[in-house]
Order: sequence, then C-alpha cells, then structure tokens
Amino acid sequence: MRHTNWAGNYRYRAAALAEPTTAAQLRDLLADTGPAAGRLRVAATGHTFNDLPDTTGTLLTLRSLPRVCEVDTAARTVRIDGGASYGEIAPAVQAAGLALPNLASLPHISVAGAIATGTHGSGVGNKMLADAVVGFEVLTADGELRQVGRDDDPDFPALATHLGAFGVITALTLRLEPTFDVATTVYLGLPWDRLTTEFAQIAAGGYSVSVLPQWTQDGAAPESMAFVKRRFPAVAREETPRGVTDSAAAASTPDFFGGRPADRMMHLTPGVDPSACTPQLGDVGPWHLRLAHFRLEATPSSGDELQTEYLMPIGNAAAALEQLRQLGGRLPALATTTEVRTVAADDFWLSPAYQTDSVAVHFTWKPDQPGVQALLPELEARLGPLGARPHWGKLFATPADRLNQLYPRFGDAADAVQRWDPNGRFSNDFLRRVGLRID
Ligand SMILES: Cc1cc2nc3c(=O)[nH]c(=O)nc-3n(C[C@H](O)[C@H](O)[C@H](O)COP(=O)(O)OP(=O)(O)OC[C@H]3O[C@@H](n4cnc5c(N)ncnc54)[C@H](O)[C@@H]3O)c2cc1C
Repeated sequence: MRHTNWAGNYRYRAAALAEPTTAAQLRDLLADTGPAAGRLRVAATGHTFNDLPDTTGTLLTLRSLPRVCEVDTAARTVRIDGGASYGEIAPAVQAAGLALPNLASLPHISVAGAIATGTHGSGVGNKMLADAVVGFEVLTADGELRQVGRDDDPDFPALATHLGAFGVITALTLRLEPTFDVATTVYLGLPWDRLTTEFAQIAAGGYSVSVLPQWTQDGAAPESMAFVKRRFPAVAREETPRGVTDSAAAASTPDFFGGRPADRMMHLTPGVDPSACTPQLGDVGPWHLRLAHFRLEATPSSGDELQTEYLMPIGNAAAALEQLRQLGGRLPALATTTEVRTVAADDFWLSPAYQTDSVAVHFTWKPDQPGVQALLPELEARLGPLGARPHWGKLFATPADRLNQLYPRFGDAADAVQRWDPNGRFSNDFLRRVGLRID
C-alpha cells in the first residue's frame, strides 16, 4: 500500500496500515470495539489531494479483497465491492449491454471513493456520479453490517456524499441504463464573447461538454477549447428537459459556437502528448471507452499536479469566468488547465450540486503547493460571492462557517455522522476542520 496519495503531495500519518484479504478479516477489524480499538479510515485509490482519507489510527485498503461485479440485466443494476474502480467494472457492464450514465475524467478512481467526495463528469442533464447509487452496504463503527437503500433509508442523502465518515462501504449497487455510444469532438478557438454570453447553450451542446479557456498572461480575453462528447443514440428529448442538442447532424457541423473542429488528437493541456486521452475526432465507440478523458492504461492528466474545483449556480458561469480573467497572468503562472463543466442538481446533503444546477470550474495546478495555497483565498474571495462550493477531494481554503452557510442541510449531515459513529472512530482532522465533527 502506498504511503502517499496519488499526486504525492500528501503523506498519510496513520499509525498503522491494514490490508485485509478476506471479508472475515475486515469484519474482525471493525468488530474490535474494545478500549484499544483505535480510529480507522479507508484509503482507496488516493486520488484526493488533501488529508480527507487520513487517520491517526489504522488506514485500511480494500484492494486485496475479492472483486465483486454482479450485473443483474433484468433489474439493470450492478453490485460491486467497496474497493472496485470504474475501470474494473465498466467492461462487464458494457458486455451485458448496459452502461453507467456518466464517468469522471478518469476511470482509475474507486467508485466508493469517488462518491465520497462528490465526484462528477459533465453534462447539463448529468448529476454527480453518486446519482447512480441505489444501495450501500456499510460496516459501521460497532462492526454491524447495514444496508442503506435509496428509496427506504432516510440517511441515504447523507451517505450519497459520505466523506468516509459513516463506516466502511463494503459494497454498492449502481443503477444502469441500456448501453450507448459516444463520439468526442474537440473544438478550438471558441471566442470569449460567445463563451460568456452563450454559456448555457454551449454547455448543452452535447451530452457532456468541457470548456477549457486558454488564459493569456496579460488578462486579454482568451479563446477556449471545448471537448464535446455526443451520445448515440441521443437521449430521448423528453428525458432531457434541459435542451441538450445531441445529434448526428450536430456532430458533423464544422462550427461550434465559433470554434472549429481540431484535426488531430488534443490533450486538455495544450502542448502535452495526447496519447493518454480517449479517442476523439468524432470516432464513435462505447461509453466506457469515451466518456472519461483519459484511458485506463495511461496516466491521467499529468500525474505531477495539484487540483482545485468550485461548483456554483450555472447562471453565474459568465461572472465566474470574468473573475478568473481578471486574475491576469497569476492564473496561467500556476494553472496548467482550467476545465469548466456542468453538473445537474441533486438532493444529496453534502453534494456540491445540492439543489443547484451547477457550473464546475476546475484547475489543474503545477505542483507548487505553497503557491496554490497562497492563491486559494483570493480565488475564493472572487468566486465565493457567486456561491462557490469546493470539491471535497481537492485543495480548498473555505472555512467551516462558510461551508455551513453553503449547505442548507450541513447540520443534518453532521447529526447523521454523529448517529452513525457516536465515538468518532472515523473522525479525522479533515472532518473537524470542515465542521462535521468536533471529536
Ligand atoms: C487525475 C485526476 C483526475 C480527477 N478527475 C476528476 C473529475 O473528473 N471529476 C471529479 O469530480 N473529481 C476528479 N478527481 C478527484 C477524484 O475523483 C476524487 O478525489 C475522488 O474522491 C478520489 O477517489 P479515490 O477512489 O481515489 O478515493 P480516495 O482519495 O482514496 O478516498 C476518498 C474518500 O473516500 C473514502 N473512501 C474510499 N473508499 C471507501 C470505502 N470503501 N468506505 C468508506 N470510505 C471510503 C476515503 O476514506 C476518503 O475519505 C480527479 C483526481 C485526479 C487525481
């Protein structure tokens, strides 16, 4: 087991590491609730950029437990184990003629870990990845195995962005839909005035759209790239009231809001070798090989990086972009990539898209942690008034009292965490810092 997170910017401080190989070993670890039983957390694939997974006690990995991937074609669900990654389950789902509704930019992350932090892909009609969950199986702090169904457990909206605070998730059931194909076209040179005046239409210009402004040193209005992932067959119009314009005709148009189709593969960071990216150039293929930006076999993004992201009401997209432009050269000095995506509203209490159709503004930073941490307060001063909620798995500086204001159900989520784990077995510095625990 690695002693650092994936990016290498955080070294776990846990006193002990545990890697159970059987379900019985895992149950025994949790069942030891005596006075000597210490704190405990799960580290999954470590793609968070902060101390969220850490503990002063035992850090658990579920990677050596047997993988479970049981597709139920009649019910259109898949039951998976708590350590499985999207990349591991997607081929079996596709082989059964089914699909997950969406993926993040990479398939390498674990499903339980992604859901923990409100991980998302893009699309005005697409919600957080957690929206696919219909059931959790959780080993609680007192060693009990609890089933949490979406339709019958009042704590489901709390667990749907669980931050590792409720227990060890041993299995999840995800809802599936009939398989579909996706084609990615990258457009270059979208003008700033069209981006800022027509953001809602641009974001709805495909099933999943990512816009990447190419900031200039002098703060002049930048042009943008757009990664447009179109879905075939397109989602039925009545299922997408948000006006997604997804069709073969749209895919063949040479103009996308003033942008022109790239004639070669592009990385999200211009100038970087695109061989780690999933196919582009309008090549049609199955969802699991197109929805993520990065291929499972390759290193996603740059690997030597930090990340930050804020979600806010989609109507504030233009104002947020303008705030960023005003940072002038300070943004490109630190950020290799800015990616602007959209996430549809949900009802999960700690979801950054809680009851808000959101624009998500993501930064991939150079690996300069002091520099990034020095910029975060200014970024948050600019985006905070626009309602910016930070991504729980990335770097942010938002204080607990502000988080409490940003999440109407924050107090209810804290109460649920306390009920599930009365003695703070899964508590850690992160949960105390954000105000979800005091012990
Ligand atoms: C290159 C890169 C690209 C990214 N792209 C995106 C993106 O497109 N969209 C986006 O929203 N985010 C993105 N992220 C962020 C990433 O998705 C999140 O940080 C995610 O939470 C990481 O999941 P993980 O499996 O690595 O979890 P970890 O970092 O290992 O853990 C995350 C949390 O989940 C808890 N946890 C994990 N498994 C369990 C379990 N079985 N039971 C209980 N608790 C558990 C951990 O304790 C921890 O609190 C990206 C990150 C990287 C490095």
